[in-house]
Amino acid sequence: MEIGGNGFEAKDIFNQVIGYTYNDIILMPGYLDFAAGDVDLRTRLTRNLSLNLPFVSSPMDTVTEANMAIHMALLGGIGIIHYNNTVEEQVEMVKKVKRFENGFITDPVVLSPEHTVADVLDLKESHGFSGIPITEDGTLNTKVIGIVTNRDIDFEKDPTQKLKNVMTTNLVTAQEGVTLSEANALLKKTKVGKLPVIDNEGKLKALLARTDLKKNRDFPLATKNKNKQLVVGAAISTQGRDLERLDELVKAKVDVVLIDSAQGFTKWQIEMLQYIKKKYPELDVIGGNVVTEEQAEGLIKAGADGLRIGMGPGSICTTQETMATGRSQATAVYHTARVARKYDVPVIADGGISQIGHIMKALSFGASTVMMGSLLAGTSESPGEYFYRDGVRMKKYRGMASSEAMKVGGDKRYFAEASKIKVAQGVVGAVVDRGSVDNFVPYLAQGVRHAFQDVGIRTLPELHAALISGKLRMQIRSQSSIIEGGVHDLYNVQKNPM
Ligand code: IMP
Repeated sequence: MEIGGNGFEAKDIFNQVIGYTYNDIILMPGYLDFAAGDVDLRTRLTRNLSLNLPFVSSPMDTVTEANMAIHMALLGGIGIIHYNNTVEEQVEMVKKVKRFENGFITDPVVLSPEHTVADVLDLKESHGFSGIPITEDGTLNTKVIGIVTNRDIDFEKDPTQKLKNVMTTNLVTAQEGVTLSEANALLKKTKVGKLPVIDNEGKLKALLARTDLKKNRDFPLATKNKNKQLVVGAAISTQGRDLERLDELVKAKVDVVLIDSAQGFTKWQIEMLQYIKKKYPELDVIGGNVVTEEQAEGLIKAGADGLRIGMGPGSICTTQETMATGRSQATAVYHTARVARKYDVPVIADGGISQIGHIMKALSFGASTVMMGSLLAGTSESPGEYFYRDGVRMKKYRGMASSEAMKVGGDKRYFAEASKIKVAQGVVGAVVDRGSVDNFVPYLAQGVRHAFQDVGIRTLPELHAALISGKLRMQIRSQSSIIEGGVHDLYNVQKNPM
């Protein structure tokens, strides 16, 4: 066979003086004898945290807050909550995810009979649920005497009405010690919305929600911990004041923390990683961002359980232009993943993902997951409101190092010291409406399954094995071949709706 007749191995492509990005490379098709539905996208985010889909939403203040994190986890991925907020705000978001879908809700919000309908409406607004047990004194230390649900307050016009006058008092309850499946069976049989679990003295020990049962049915891929709670991550910085943030996040049962720095190979990040692994050896920590072997190995040796790869590829990013530093993303992913693999540490390809093909390429070059900002910022689950410009529905999306985001804390990602003059490394813009992630993420996943099918590979471990062995073949595209591979020579184009 001629050299290159079947494309080339990754090492021939990446061991060169030139750096490549996703668009520069094309994968060679393999032999296909299975359906897209046979492809299994299960993967690992960190040493110890598995996901059902390789998708992570970025810790940016226009991308991931509680709602995005809830839906990313429900769909099989994970969201990392940003840190442009107070410790209390970030912790509350983590708790919201944790409360969202549990087997047993073990710290249910309760009110007293003296609270009012307005208090229930406030809780509904802030927490997103309204079935609230009423205890004698409004704490978990006294007996449950009723429950207030939507049905009790739907037609109540007076917001000052006391809950003792509207609550339902003939309660269906379960006794402490009940198993999850027994409690679920009781929920089904009695048709109630909420099932309080009480002890011998009638005190509330846990709560079960009918909606959680339905969610279990609707989201079979949901990523959960051993307590059946959705998983969630949170960003912290390397600054000393974030040690308190770390402690509070751990108390709130965050599943993974991510040290959010644009250039991660620093004295401060190494010290932070060592500190966290000593204080919380069970907690998985993602380090980054890195793009070279030296950086990757440095953070792994300091204790990182996962690495975030990328310096400059982000859609809102001006780092490479301003700081003259960074790396072409495909090359960065390949080299860092190669060294991280030796330590069994998975890497996240972060930034520059704007098409399904980019996801497939990131995974093919060694990443175990992809982190997305712009692609998810236009969904209904991201923070912020939609607006119209030129008849197009869109949402704001900004870099954490844009001047605007730095004013509210984004600079923690970029500078270790406080400085009056801040050089922006990101911009503010807008992205088009992509509907709900509930539709968009499964669409991305299905696209990636088809891409796996085209290279004739069924799972991520197989894809990485093919990368290492050289079975996975690829080729550099010329500039004109990139044009040829895109849409061309049409008078007008109707874009795909997604
Ligand atoms: P995107 O998916 O291409 O939009 O890239 C998102 C990624 O860009 C994030 O996960 C960050 O790593 C990175 N990022 C976020 N804000 C900034 C910024 O202001 N400047 C440079 N990079 C940024």
